[in-house]
Amino acid sequence: MDFDYDVIIIGAGPVGGYTARVLSERGLSVLMVEEHNEVGRPFQCAGLVTPSAMDAVEAYDTVVADVDGALIHGPSGTLVPVGKEGDLRTYVVCRKRFDQTVVQQGLEAGSDIMLESQPVSADVQPDGVVVEIVNQRTNQTTTLRSKLLIGCDGAHSWVRRRFKMGYPKEMMIGFQTEVVGYEGQERWLEMFSGSKIAPGFFAWVIPSGNGTHRIGLWSRADLLEGRTVLDCYNDLLKHPLWKDRFANITETARYCGPVPSGMIRRPIKDRVMVIGDAAGMAKPTTGGGLGPGFKQISSIADRLVEQVHRNQLSEKNLKSITKSSWSKLKKEQDRARALRDLLVSTRTDDELDMHFTNFAKPEVIELINEIGDIEKPVPLGLALLKKVPAFRKLALQAGVKLLFT
Ligand SMILES: Cc1cc2nc3c(=O)[nH]c(=O)nc-3n(C[C@H](O)[C@H](O)[C@H](O)COP(=O)(O)OP(=O)(O)OC[C@H]3O[C@@H](n4cnc5c(N)ncnc54)[C@H](O)[C@@H]3O)c2cc1C
Repeated sequence: MDFDYDVIIIGAGPVGGYTARVLSERGLSVLMVEEHNEVGRPFQCAGLVTPSAMDAVEAYDTVVADVDGALIHGPSGTLVPVGKEGDLRTYVVCRKRFDQTVVQQGLEAGSDIMLESQPVSADVQPDGVVVEIVNQRTNQTTTLRSKLLIGCDGAHSWVRRRFKMGYPKEMMIGFQTEVVGYEGQERWLEMFSGSKIAPGFFAWVIPSGNGTHRIGLWSRADLLEGRTVLDCYNDLLKHPLWKDRFANITETARYCGPVPSGMIRRPIKDRVMVIGDAAGMAKPTTGGGLGPGFKQISSIADRLVEQVHRNQLSEKNLKSITKSSWSKLKKEQDRARALRDLLVSTRTDDELDMHFTNFAKPEVIELINEIGDIEKPVPLGLALLKKVPAFRKLALQAGVKLLFT
């Protein structure tokens, strides 16, 4: 087969852009195919980027605010402050500019891009992949050949569906507005919990620079019991404990979108792989999908490039490259989900309130601040179970759950 590109990536979102850059920098020829006529729109994101995800792309000029910590509210109002003034925990970015910066990095490293274009077929042959791409504006079809096809095409991935690669374990629903007129504490985000406003999960208010805030929540359809995330959002704004904070807000934008979490069963087939939201990489504890998507490709980049050069890209070859690092990512995700379920998602409001009373004790806050890491929630969960007497009876259940995940 004569190849037009070594790799065709479907989707020029942040993970597609980063994947393009990582592979182009290592000498591969790469094409990104993006269905929209502009990179970075539409998006659904709170814009939190952890320092390690930011280190990967160094998109510091897209930062709109720094966050040092979180003020976490229990269902009955118990407040648990986590973090330390001046000690940066996470960045808040303009997601449109962030995506554009990351895709631009891919282009500067040598990748090409086709905008307003979508794949309509992809056939895997013994020596390569034949992809038919249609330009939506001109309706013109282009047939291109590559050694490898990568799906970075988000939560509803075409590539994942085309190659029957499985389905993320959980699909949460996120809803968010951008507002002016909220008076929050600078450099601190807020989290709210309770079955009326974010069953099993949490709502957030995030400072986004220039007096603006992002207010949102996420949950899962089976926990919503027929309500919508918009109903929950309205309940948050009307909540007797917190309604005064929202009294003067004016909404300037709103978004709703899926959060796929739980790595799919077969992220790899002969000459095909999926990365990022397409593979179900978002964190079960925070919904963050940028860092895990970046990690998924950077953990295999060098070996993948060698295999592309050799054109040895069978499912077996690809598995041998991804096996150890992706299994580790999956295991971390599964363990974090198990602990999240145990401590938060399966708890009634009364039980959550009891947990918050314990979280709010000075020695527990100290422990959270010492061990708590947004990137690695499992060590904190385990430390809480081990060291806080009130959580000890959950420790056995946690042990059993973790044994089987
Ligand atoms: C409300 C909400 C808040 C969130 N907040 C955060 C947060 O604060 N921090 C964080 O890290 N994550 C957050 N996430 C998750 C985060 O947005 C995703 O994990 C992240 O966007 C995944 O990047 P991606 O490149 O894999 O997919 P996407 O960002 O979805 O990009 C996929 C790209 O592929 C394109 N595409 C799709 N299908 C096709 C096709 N058939 N042909 C061509 N192109 C196609 C799309 O147009 C898009 O450009 C949030 C999600 C939601 C819903």
